[in-house]
Amino acid sequence: MKLIVLGPPGSGKGTISERLEKEFGFLHVSAGELLRTEAKKNTAQGRETKKTIEAGKLVPHQLIVNMIKATVKNKKKYLLDGFPRALEQAQAIEDLKIDSVLYIQIQQDLVIQRFAGRLVCLEGHHSYHIKHLPPKKAGICDIDGSQLIQRADDNPTVIKERFKIFHTETEPVINYYRKKQILKTVDGSGLPDAVYERVKRVLGLK
Ligand code: AMP
Repeated sequence: MKLIVLGPPGSGKGTISERLEKEFGFLHVSAGELLRTEAKKNTAQGRETKKTIEAGKLVPHQLIVNMIKATVKNKKKYLLDGFPRALEQAQAIEDLKIDSVLYIQIQQDLVIQRFAGRLVCLEGHHSYHIKHLPPKKAGICDIDGSQLIQRADDNPTVIKERFKIFHTETEPVINYYRKKQILKTVDGSGLPDAVYERVKRVLGLK
């Protein structure tokens, strides 16, 4: 099964994808994580990627399309978290033959509250929330033991820009998959356990 997980910033894409990875063995391909790894490199492309992420904008389509295609080559069971985020990206991966697109729908004012408590680990893509999804040991990732930090692009100005891009660039992608009749929409409000149960139901995994 080849799955796409989409939703506005803070909708819980990462958390839901981690759970699907753990329970069902999907290869979890996070576009944001691939790009954050790229942004750590001291190369022209690395520095450019870092600037783009910190501004909340989209990196060039061809860059992320190539990274995703290289990562999923010859794989049959994976989920793409946060990709495609623009129509051009969606059209560029027609050949991957995606089975289902999960759209985590949530109101903007609700997710803005979530950002205040969001933490991610330094090593991987594991996400936490101070109140709703705390780690077992404060400040430390349960999975890989690395330090938890706040993301540099989780600040009000950049969050606003990321939302703007979601509306202008990513909403057309959602309509694109709706027309193809592979879109599964789920209510992303509430605690992670509740959202995850809804996700499994809508994807026919329970
Ligand atoms: P995320 O971790 O999914 O919130 O992504 C973090 C940042 O990485 C985004 O705000 C963009 O700057 C960049 N990014 C992630 N996915 C994509 C994509 N599909 N296309 C272009 N840029 C992306």
